[in-house]
Amino acid sequence: MVIGSATVYLSSTASAAYLVVNGQKTGIVGSVEIGQHLVDEILAKRGQAINKAAKTNDHIEYQLVRVKKAELLGEMSTKIELEKKLTSYIDGYALDIAGTQIAILPNQEDIQKVLKTYQEFYTNPSDNNKLTSVEFSESTSTKPVEAQPDQVKLPDQVLKELKDGKITTTEYTVQANDSWWLIARKNDMKTKEVLASNPGMTEDSKLQAGQKIKLVSVTPYLTVMSKGILTSTEIIAFDVVTNTDTKLARGESVVKEQGSDGEKLVTYSYLQKNGKDITKQVINEKVIKSPVSQVVDKGPSSTPVSVAYSISRGSGSTSGIVWPLRGSINSYYGSRHGSFHTGIDIGGDVGDPYTAAASGTIVAAGWGGGYGNMILIDHGNGVMTRYAHSSRLLVSVGQSVSRGQTIGLVGTTGNSTGPHLHFEVILNGDTVNPLSYLH
Ligand SMILES: [Zn+2]
Repeated sequence: MVIGSATVYLSSTASAAYLVVNGQKTGIVGSVEIGQHLVDEILAKRGQAINKAAKTNDHIEYQLVRVKKAELLGEMSTKIELEKKLTSYIDGYALDIAGTQIAILPNQEDIQKVLKTYQEFYTNPSDNNKLTSVEFSESTSTKPVEAQPDQVKLPDQVLKELKDGKITTTEYTVQANDSWWLIARKNDMKTKEVLASNPGMTEDSKLQAGQKIKLVSVTPYLTVMSKGILTSTEIIAFDVVTNTDTKLARGESVVKEQGSDGEKLVTYSYLQKNGKDITKQVINEKVIKSPVSQVVDKGPSSTPVSVAYSISRGSGSTSGIVWPLRGSINSYYGSRHGSFHTGIDIGGDVGDPYTAAASGTIVAAGWGGGYGNMILIDHGNGVMTRYAHSSRLLVSVGQSVSRGQTIGLVGTTGNSTGPHLHFEVILNGDTVNPLSYLH
């Protein structure tokens, strides 16, 4: 009987273990191995999104027992209980920029990868673009941290956030005589950025003193300063030579010889801030193919050449200068980044035609160093206008042009960071603010 009852006991019970978390019974498992497996499974799942298992500081113990087999059915609910009780963390690494924690990543190598990819995004090294130095303006550092799984981000996500930059919205109170471009200028923004901050507004929207508008600006968390040598193949626009042919009718013109563009290899040394040129200087130019001038025969001029100004020296009053190109003003006349900007920059796309601001005679049309492909028109009475960074010049020296006549195409040649027309008004040899004379 004794032996029999022991047999009954052994066959109706099973060995098991109570899982004890921080001194609290949290459920029953069939064995210590099953318990440990359950804990590992929960920790792995919590770190699944970042490919790194979570860890726990909880104290986990097992109490070995024998229980009735039916009690082992309780193992099903042990996992649910454990998921509620078990606390966990990820052994991550924080990325600090200029002393501020920006993100936590799973591994230290991830941070190095993010910083390197960010640098490459803005420096874009290649056979034609040799970097001589690259560094961050801000200090960067990493340190190990214990973080909650949802605080840890993957490298791609952090990279995107770094590229997007920090978005700040400020309120601006419109002053008397403010205009959209003046507000942009005061806040070191572009007109289109100010307009984009205020949906529904256009350059023609009226502003009233006291009115509040929004300024949304984006500042980078991290700045890449890079120096390098860039070599690029550039087009040398052909000149147009015009001959007057009295046998042709007024206004008629015939292309006698088709011109063709030349090509040159230009080497620049540059300093860039997050991929944008701060300085860019030509250090070498090599003509690969010379341009061939286009020869045009023209009938007698259909519009009489006239100087439509009444400039009185001293007062500087002029009339008749009109906008050479319609576009937003990207940069104004005056001091800019420690130097003096001698004209205004009007935004446009490469190939956009621009026109003579007034009638006059072309006194220069060709390469003008930092001005790139440049046109200078003498309007008489001491007034001249200059048009720089063109992709193509459509006039040649000595030619008479009328107000509104297309003279060139917008480009980004010379010392230019993007397609635009640099426009100058020169009065008695000195540049003046074009905005004071434009109509
Ligand atoms: Zn300019």
